[in-house]
Amino acid sequence: MEFTFTSEEKAFRQEVRQFLEKELPSDWNGFTEAEEGSRQAHAMGRAFTKKAARRGWVAMAWPKEYGGLSASHIQQAIYGEELAYARAPSDVPSHMAVTWVGPSLILYGTEEQKREFLPRICSGDIGFCTFYSEPGAGSDLAAMQTRAMEDGDDFVVNGQKIWTTGAHNADFGWLAARTDPNAPKHKGLSMFLVDLKTPGLEIRPLINMAGTHEFNEDFFTEVRVPKKNLVGELNRGWYLLAVALDFERSGVSSFASARRSIEELVEYARERKAGGRSLAADPTVRHKLADLKVAVETGRLLAYKVAWMQGRGLVPNREASQSKLIGSELSQRIANVGMQLLGLYGQVGRGDRHAGLLGRVQRSYMATVPATIGAGTSEIQRNIIAQRGLGLPR
Ligand SMILES: Cc1cc2nc3c(=O)[nH]c(=O)nc-3n(C[C@H](O)[C@H](O)[C@H](O)COP(=O)(O)OP(=O)(O)OC[C@H]3O[C@@H](n4cnc5c(N)ncnc54)[C@H](O)[C@@H]3O)c2cc1C
Repeated sequence: MEFTFTSEEKAFRQEVRQFLEKELPSDWNGFTEAEEGSRQAHAMGRAFTKKAARRGWVAMAWPKEYGGLSASHIQQAIYGEELAYARAPSDVPSHMAVTWVGPSLILYGTEEQKREFLPRICSGDIGFCTFYSEPGAGSDLAAMQTRAMEDGDDFVVNGQKIWTTGAHNADFGWLAARTDPNAPKHKGLSMFLVDLKTPGLEIRPLINMAGTHEFNEDFFTEVRVPKKNLVGELNRGWYLLAVALDFERSGVSSFASARRSIEELVEYARERKAGGRSLAADPTVRHKLADLKVAVETGRLLAYKVAWMQGRGLVPNREASQSKLIGSELSQRIANVGMQLLGLYGQVGRGDRHAGLLGRVQRSYMATVPATIGAGTSEIQRNIIAQRGLGLPR
């Protein structure tokens, strides 16, 4: 792996920065608490995605024939990194479509599916949510009970999904369902593309501990999915899903967000006085911030390694789990250190005159709790690293 960027990659990074400077208000610092998870935030995210789409950037590493630019995965990572650092408005369903639904379709979809869905994802016109988890199937995902049974030209879906991020703003769902109830649990699953407007599908909001509407529970009653929307082979969906999860766990965005948060904490520590001297003069504070900085640089390299592997047509597995594990746990460590630095001020939110760093620390203290649960818990990532990476026994 190369540890430097080429001159084209450096020039591209500058181009993205110029785009962000032009398109974002000069005082932009991400969504406010009130906006997060709202319809308005979604509309802003979608509009911003469409602006980037006009430059062909949304899924630039995809082949030109499907709406991409056939650019390198490193370039795609640079784009994601710059947007996350700038806290640019993002559209969650579009992100899911670009990060794991599209790449899975490129590998396993029919030509018709590729032509129907990929260009619309690239143009920012459609986004996906992910129907995997159920009330009785999270870490043990293969225990899912939602069924899709063949009936004429369709599969008929019945069951319940839960924790579905962004379903209320998505256009299509990426669904895993049981197609052979009599087969061993990993062997009777299949993957589908579901139009969320299909009759019989009800999406109900779930409000998280930070008070925002990010995820949902979904009820499927006799939902008819055309057979042409089956992705990959019937009953072999588990293998496809595992690859899609590897794509989901990849990405450099979490490290870019982390870098920005650490820089803000360093700035705060320099400015804030306690006992007549700045916080930054305290060796314990310096050590904590240095530790975070080391972790973010390590994680960033790992995330770029994953992009480099994707560029070579390799599917990252334990590498994606390592990146997800380090990124999600780092976000919690940053929030913890932030709380320690801000003291009582850390507990007040944006809008309060005592709030430090725009109330962002209080917010991220709560908002980062689910980071080590979604896309597979830290325990599951450690199991993958141990078993598939280090070859340890089950
Ligand atoms: C913010 C957020 C967004 C999400 N978005 C989506 C989404 O869009 N679509 C979707 O389908 N799902 C989504 N999920 C669900 C998520 O994938 C599950 O919550 C996760 O896989 C854990 O499953 P569970 O909640 O059922 O917990 P459980 O599986 O019941 O786990 C409970 C505890 O047991 C531990 N545990 C379980 N099995 C093992 C094991 N074998 N070894 C060691 N420890 C173990 C877990 O680590 C955890 O600590 C989201 C979750 C969150 C928090």
